[in-house]
Amino acid sequence: MTLPIGVLALQGDFREHAAALDRIGVSSLKVRTLQELESVSALIIPGGESTVIHKLSVAYGLFQPIKAKIKAGLPIFGTCAGLIMLSDEIIDGISGQETFGGLDVTVQRNAFGHQLDSFEVDLDFEGITDGQVHAAFIRAPLITRVGAAASVVAQLPNGGVVGVQQENLLGISFHPEVTGEDRIHALFAKLAKV
Ligand code: GLN
Repeated sequence: MTLPIGVLALQGDFREHAAALDRIGVSSLKVRTLQELESVSALIIPGGESTVIHKLSVAYGLFQPIKAKIKAGLPIFGTCAGLIMLSDEIIDGISGQETFGGLDVTVQRNAFGHQLDSFEVDLDFEGITDGQVHAAFIRAPLITRVGAAASVVAQLPNGGVVGVQQENLLGISFHPEVTGEDRIHALFAKLAKV
């Protein structure tokens, strides 16, 4: 029996991720405890607020265990705040803000000023060959440095990097889970061999 894909359910749009997995026929489990973390084959870290996800993961005793899972090779997909949580380095974090890390990148939080706080655009996505993906950006981070170990999977028309992959980790600045763009979840399920 295949284990479900976990969705970290501390804060943010975890329900939308569970619904996206449901639409592509992959079972999911909301993860709030260590026991639930041990019962999944992969993990999605949703969009929301990275400062809150950080604090709650510490409070729920999941911060160090998730770091250890990343090192051990658990496939993890982060969207927006989830990308921030997977990044080794952040710009414009709040005092004391920490991430799980794993992706050799720097992200800048809330990088798209007021007017562009939220916007939608169609993008090419590495590994998706049947047309561009529809990307919704909501107070999104921008990937400002891509280290040697990470590779770019999505860019804005102006070249800004908004998606990266590094071995077991996939991180994107936008929210396919809110626009019904399920092909990236399908790609992740393939990466996770679910
Ligand atoms: N700005 C949020 C943060 O820093 C991310 C926004 C989002 O996930 N839509 O965590």
